[in-house]
Amino acid sequence: MSNPGLERAIAIAAKVEAFVRDLVAPYDQEARLGPHRPSEDLVMERREKARAAGVMTPHILADGSHLSQRETAIVLKASGLSPLGPTAVNTMAPDEGNMYLIGKVATPALRERFLKPLVAGEVRSAFFMTEPAAEGGAGSDPSMMKTTCHRDGDHWLINGRKAFITGADGARVGIIMAKSEDGACMFLVELPDPAIRIERVLNTIDSTMPGGHAVIAIDNLRVPADQMLGASGDGFKYAQVRLSPARLSHCMRWLGSVIRAHEIATAYACRREAFGKLLVDHEGVGFMLADNLIDLQQAELMIDWCAGVLDGGSLGTAESSMTKVAVSEALMRVADRCVQVMGGTGVTGDTIVERVFREIRAFRIYDGPTEVHKWSLAKKVKRDFLQAQER
Ligand SMILES: Cc1cc2nc3c(=O)[nH]c(=O)nc-3n(C[C@H](O)[C@H](O)[C@H](O)COP(=O)(O)OP(=O)(O)OC[C@H]3O[C@@H](n4cnc5c(N)ncnc54)[C@H](O)[C@@H]3O)c2cc1C
Repeated sequence: MSNPGLERAIAIAAKVEAFVRDLVAPYDQEARLGPHRPSEDLVMERREKARAAGVMTPHILADGSHLSQRETAIVLKASGLSPLGPTAVNTMAPDEGNMYLIGKVATPALRERFLKPLVAGEVRSAFFMTEPAAEGGAGSDPSMMKTTCHRDGDHWLINGRKAFITGADGARVGIIMAKSEDGACMFLVELPDPAIRIERVLNTIDSTMPGGHAVIAIDNLRVPADQMLGASGDGFKYAQVRLSPARLSHCMRWLGSVIRAHEIATAYACRREAFGKLLVDHEGVGFMLADNLIDLQQAELMIDWCAGVLDGGSLGTAESSMTKVAVSEALMRVADRCVQVMGGTGVTGDTIVERVFREIRAFRIYDGPTEVHKWSLAKKVKRDFLQAQER
C-alpha cells in the first residue's frame, strides 16, 4: 500500500545518507573533533556543505511543518551514520528537541525570534534542567529543582546552578527551567548573557556534541515576562511535550551510528584472518555479528512502534520509556560486540567504533537512566493491576 509520507521521508533520508557518507564520514577522524567536543569551525564548515546539498534540518520542511515521528525516524537514522552527521545537518540533540518544543508551544513572535535561526542552522541552543548532584539539585528527579524564579515587575529574576548543559558553551538560544511559588517554569532566553556564567565544561566520556556539557551559574538573570513559555507552574507540563519525542530521536540517531559501527566490524571480520580462516567464519565471531543484526532489527522496530504511538496523538510516556531502555541497552550490546570483533583496533581511534561505544555509554544515562524508566514502568504495572482489581 502506498504511503506518500513515508515515501517522502525515504527520499529525504537517501539524500541525507549520501551527504553523511560522502561529506561527513571522511571527517570522522579529524583532529578538530577534539577529545570532548568538535570545534565550532568544523561544525559550521560541515553545515555550509549541508546547506549546499539541501539537507539542512531535513526533518522540518520548507513550509515549517515537521515530518511525522515515523518519517523523522527514517531521516534521523540516516543522519546518525556518522557521529558528526546530526551536528552537520542540524538533527542533533538538544537542538532537535528544542526546535520541536519551541515550534509547539511558543507564540508566533517568539518562534520568529528564536526558532527561525535555529531551523536555519545558523545558531545552536541548550536545555537547562539538570543541577549539580553535590548540591542536591534536579537529576533523575526533576522535582528536586533548586533554581528559583521570582516575578519582578515585567521581568522574572532567575538564580541557581545547572550541570551537564549540552551545547551551552557557544549556544545563542537557551530554554531554562526554574521553580516559582506556583511550581516549575520554563523560559526562552537569548545567549550569551553575562548573568549566565559557564564555570567549566565537563570532561565526559562522550565527544560529539558541540559545546560539550557545562556547569553553569545563573546569577540574577532578568528575563522579560513574555519569554516565559506558558504560565507560571506550567513548566513540567511543557517539558512533557518535548520528553517523548526527544528521547525517541536519540534512539533514531544512535541507531544510525551503531549500524555504521556494525558495518565497520563486519568488514573487519570478513577481511581479517586468524587460525587459517576469516574471523567471520569462526562461530564465536559470526554469532556476535548475528546477534548484532537481531538487536539492530529489534531496536528499529521499537522506534517505529513508539513513533506510531506518538503520531497517533498520545504523549507516549510509557512507550517512549520502554523504547529508550530497549534501544539504548541493545545499542550498547551491539557497540560492545563491534569493539570485541575488531580486537585491538576496536579500542583505537582508527575507526569510529570506539567513539560510538563511548557515546552509547552516555546515552544509557541522559534523558532518563535505564533504572528510572524501569522504575516508572514498574509503578505503571502496579497502578494498572490495582485499577483492574477495582473493576
Ligand atoms: C552526556 C550528558 C548530556 C546531558 N545533557 C543534558 C542537558 O543538555 N540538559 C540537562 O538538563 N541535563 C542533561 N544531562 C543530565 C541528565 O539528564 C542526567 O544526568 C540524568 O537525568 C540523571 O541525573 P543525575 O546525573 O543527577 O543522576 P542521579 O539522579 O544522581 O542518579 C544516579 C543513578 O541512580 C539511579 N536511580 C535514580 N533514580 C532511580 C530510581 N527511581 N530507581 C532506580 N534507580 C534510580 C540510576 O541508575 C541513575 O543513573 C546530560 C547528562 C549527560 C551524561
